[in-house]
Amino acid sequence: MTQLDLTDERWQAITTNDRQADGDFFYAVKTTQIFCRPSCASRPPKRENVAVYSNSLDPIKLGFRPCKRCQPLGNKVPLATWVEDIKNYLQLNYQRKLTLELIASEIHSSPYYLHHVFKAHTGLTPLEYLTMIRIDKAKLLLTTTSYPIATIARYIGISNTSYFSVVFKKMTAESPSAYRKKKK
Ligand SMILES: [Zn+2]
Repeated sequence: MTQLDLTDERWQAITTNDRQADGDFFYAVKTTQIFCRPSCASRPPKRENVAVYSNSLDPIKLGFRPCKRCQPLGNKVPLATWVEDIKNYLQLNYQRKLTLELIASEIHSSPYYLHHVFKAHTGLTPLEYLTMIRIDKAKLLLTTTSYPIATIARYIGISNTSYFSVVFKKMTAESPSAYRKKKK
């Protein structure tokens, strides 16, 4: 393993997209499972989510995927692979408050491009896909726990309980409490 310390110097190279540092190290971001060259023209991640490696092999071994924008392996990431990476990102982050803009920024894309490519490959928009993940988790929690519905809504990243109920009903044709009652 060739993990390096995230020194102030390396952190500065990341936040200033310093081309001089390319080749010296790669940085991986835990929340997105993506790794980049220092020069990647992306919004800086949170420092505590960043790990730094001296080569590109270690992040790959650890399950990180190459960024589509800066292409740390020097070759293009196929779109189908990229879409799989986004699905994986949504599975990992569904509990957070996400908007299309935030998702796009974290995976180093633009909202329009992300929406367009994701829909072309999956038939769903990224936010529709996110809702599907959330409702699946909610169904599981409704049947396997006795948590109040407001708690479940918050757990899956929807802080407004009545909005959660509307979305749930739209996806399943039942209210959360009716669904729970039926399954018990
Ligand atoms: Zn990148």
